[in-house]
Parts: sequence; structure tokens; C-alpha cells
Amino acid sequence: MVMENILGVMRKYETFLISSHINPDGDSIGSQLAIYSLLSDFGKKVSILNSNPVPYDYKFLLDFWRSHTVLKSEFGFGITSGDELLLDNVEVAIILDCGNISRIGKELAPKIKPKFALINIDHHLGNENFGTYNLVNHDACATGELVFQLMDYGNIKIDQYIANCLYTAILTDTGSFKFSNTTTETHKIAARLIDLGVKPNWIAEKVYEVVPYQRAKLFGKALETLRLENSGKIAYMWATREMFDQTVSDSEDTEGFVEYLRSLRGIKIAIFFRELEDSGVKVSLRSKGDFDVNKIAVKFGGGGHQAAAGCTISETLDKSIDMVLSAVMAEI
Ligand code: 5GP
Ligand code: MN
Repeated sequence: MVMENILGVMRKYETFLISSHINPDGDSIGSQLAIYSLLSDFGKKVSILNSNPVPYDYKFLLDFWRSHTVLKSEFGFGITSGDELLLDNVEVAIILDCGNISRIGKELAPKIKPKFALINIDHHLGNENFGTYNLVNHDACATGELVFQLMDYGNIKIDQYIANCLYTAILTDTGSFKFSNTTTETHKIAARLIDLGVKPNWIAEKVYEVVPYQRAKLFGKALETLRLENSGKIAYMWATREMFDQTVSDSEDTEGFVEYLRSLRGIKIAIFFRELEDSGVKVSLRSKGDFDVNKIAVKFGGGGHQAAAGCTISETLDKSIDMVLSAVMAEI
């Protein structure tokens, strides 16, 4: 029923705004571009507007596409089917991969006030069902999986471009089909996307084999801080502002660091701490096995999934590390 309603809204209205969470990842970018592409094919006026620009790792999805211009507004970065980014007076807003609306970002979130409908498509635990229509399933491996199911349900033609976007969403949110959210459904969808023209080696190369020099250098510095706790069940490391400055790198360059920690032998919980530019610390948590890192992230106002979650703490790096480690120790 909800798919029927969402497709009905997509057909009925004319102006759409698509958005997703801050620090967008492969799932948020892939899902947004797939919906954008679909709505432009429907002949709608549509914009994507995000608080942050498309990270380097996912720019290939934009570049591979028809012509587009990335525009910047007071509230963020985006692309549009017309001359300017739509925000005020849009009829419909489609929010992808966000458990709650504030994940869109402090400045942008309060500006999203669609006239007729707010559509929420997401797979995070504890999604607040903030939409007029909520396509929410935390068993889906990625928001891209739900977008695929929506298009499939509506018999909408998935062209090679959309297929690439959705495959990227699924590939990245399952950690290359490694995480526990990888199911038969995940692989069935991936197979269908390959039938539609996706080249898995091409996407893997674009997403994973483009590590810039400064990221490798930053990784080296961060890795020197690696610590183990709880007889090697917990691994953590951090990146300070000084390390970012020394290597001329930025937040995007920490992509994949926490996944490396997770790959250490005997590890149950991996934690990466990143000192933020202004103040505070971004924490990324991953688990192997049953440990629920979402529960830890929620304690600090964040969220995510059982095996991958995050939060931001408004404290110094040392204090944040103490706080998170204590919370993890209390639960392990
Ligand atoms: P990452 O550590 O890669 O930033 O995020 C891992 C997972 O946790 C993703 O699903 C992401 O959406 C979620 N997540 C990360 N940070 C936050 C946060 O501050 N709040 C919420 N609700 N979810 C977060
Ligand atoms: Mn996701």
C-alpha cells in the first residue's frame, strides 16, 4: 500500500526535493540519484539538495551521467533539473536513508517544508516514521534496496544509470556483501542489476580503488594510534586535527578506516574517533557478531544499525574516547 501511495505521489505532483543525511555515503548518493533520475524521466521538476557535497568516492556516479551542474545554495549543495535548486514551495520532499529528519543537517532540515507530502524511505533501526508516507524496513540492507523494490513494484524501467546507482548503494552499505545485512534478497537484486548492465568490477574500481595519496598518509598517522582493549575484543584509533593538517586531508579521507579496524583478528567492536573542525568528535562504531553498536550510538544521541552506527560528541577527543569506551565496556 505504501509503495502504491508513494508512486501515486510521484506521478501526481510536479515539483520534488530529494535529500539525505549529512556526510553522504554510497547508499545516500546512489539512492538519491536513482530517484532523481526516475523523476526527471517522468518529466518532473526535481532537485537534490544535501548539506555536504558529493564525496570524491561517489562523484563518478554524477560524472557518468547526462550533463549536470553542481550548484551551491545558502543551505547546501545539489543538482537540479531546471536552472536553480528547488527548496521553497516544493510540493513533495523525498528523504532517503535518514532515521530522523534532523540527520539532514542543522541548517537544511528546518527548511524542508513540502506543501503536500513528505516521503521517508529508509532502513535505519528506530526510524521515526516522520513522513506522510513511510517506506521503512530495517531488514533492507540499504535504502537502495527499498528504492529498487519500489521501482520494481511500479514496473518502472531501470536503465543502466539507475542500475549503477542502486548497485553502488547496495555494494557500499553491505561492505561489499560482507556485512550481516547481506541476504538472498540482496544478491537477487544485485543479480538483476547486473543483468541490467552493471559491471561489478567497474563499480568496485570506481568506489574502492581510488584512494588519494593524502588519505593513505592520513591512514598511516591514524594507524599509529591503534589501541586494543578487553583482551583484543575492542580496537580503536583516532585522527586529530593536526593529522588532517599535516597530510592536507579532510573528513572524506577517513572513508574505510573503521572497516579496517573491524578486519583485525579477534575483534568484536571497532571504533574510530575523528576530531571535528570546529569542536567535538565524530565517532564511527562497527561490530562483528552480536554486539549492538546502535545501542551505544543512541546513548550519545546518534544511531544507525546493529553492526554499524555513529554519533557526534561535543567533548574533547580524550573525553569522547573515555566516554565511548566506558559505555562499550559496560555492555560487552
Ligand atoms: P558512519 O560511522 O559510517 O558515519 O555511520 C554508520 C551508520 O550509522 C550509518 O548507517 C549512519 O547513517 C549512522 N550514523 C552515523 N552517525 C550518525 C548520527 O550521528 N546519528 C544517527 N542517527 N545515525 C548515524
Ligand atoms: Mn544506508
